[in-house]
Amino acid sequence: MGFPAQRLRRLRKNGNMRRMVSETGLSVDNFIQPLFVVEGKGIRRGIPSIAGNYHFSIDMVVEEARELSDLGIPAVLLFGIPNGKDDEAAGAYAPDGIVQRAVRALKKAGPEMVIITDVCLCEHTTHGHCGIISNGYLLNDPTIEIIAKVALSHVEAGADIVAPAAMMDGQIHAIRTTLEEHGFHEAVIMAYAAKYASRLYEPFFRHGTQSPVAFGDKKSHQMDCANSNEAMREIELDIEEGADIVMIKPALFYLDIVYRARQRFDLPLAVYNVSGEYAMIQGAAEARRLDFEAVMQEALISCRRAGANLIISYYAKEAARGLNKKAYSYRVARPLPVLEADVPPLHGNGGGVSLRNVKVCK
Ligand SMILES: [Zn+2]
Repeated sequence: MGFPAQRLRRLRKNGNMRRMVSETGLSVDNFIQPLFVVEGKGIRRGIPSIAGNYHFSIDMVVEEARELSDLGIPAVLLFGIPNGKDDEAAGAYAPDGIVQRAVRALKKAGPEMVIITDVCLCEHTTHGHCGIISNGYLLNDPTIEIIAKVALSHVEAGADIVAPAAMMDGQIHAIRTTLEEHGFHEAVIMAYAAKYASRLYEPFFRHGTQSPVAFGDKKSHQMDCANSNEAMREIELDIEEGADIVMIKPALFYLDIVYRARQRFDLPLAVYNVSGEYAMIQGAAEARRLDFEAVMQEALISCRRAGANLIISYYAKEAARGLNKKAYSYRVARPLPVLEADVPPLHGNGGGVSLRNVKVCK
């Protein structure tokens, strides 16, 4: 039975009708805000390529967390930028390291906020790689030993969730075993389970953690962007090793992976809406090609529609503000922003982007 018995436009007639049949919701409960912590006092310094995000000293990150908590955001994900680095990332598990001190300060100020820490070595190594390097190659087993120490030090400081990001084989097992041995039976592991070797992290590494790699790339441990079956294996192994939440990173270019994972696994699923995804939309908005707010909402909803429970996003705070004010919802029609009709074309060829020089990511 088709047309005219079925006319799908009947249920799209007006805002309330659309609201009633909406299949996907967006709530502050879904958001995790990443925060960058630096040494010093009274610092709240804008990060140029991740506009609206900041480097905070510990005293200021506490203030920021309070604001986020007031907006209803349940969790933050911490990245620390230490002053000193070495080849073995010893600062990463120092009890008085930047992340460990930030966790203690945040827990003291507001124990309600769920504190997630990124567990990796790349912010702490001189070369910017995620572990111990030998002859230019990232060693797996010596690295996971250190990663387990880092996770333990974060949990000892009070972190509720540790999020290992290095994509080392066996890292979840190493962390889970160490935490159990030390009596931290309640500590949650959110695994960066399927993390792709993506160039979309560039604003994060250049301006966020300021730890770009000194040589080579991360393709020997992070995933090839061409692979989907392998992502299922990565996620499956992390679950077997003791992950409580699994994450897919990046988000928007990888929603097929999110959808597949949702069909296959019952664990809470997180996505990381990464700096490059944010910067693309932000840059287009700055060039008056897109409405930043509207497109970011669409991006966040797409993550939920694909099956993500949790969204780590540089836009979390702004989105929460909007949801709280009820100033917008993705369902509410907003007037079109002023978009320049006569913005000059990007390449002088009528606005088309030449694909001739685009390389595939292998
Ligand atoms: Zn790393």
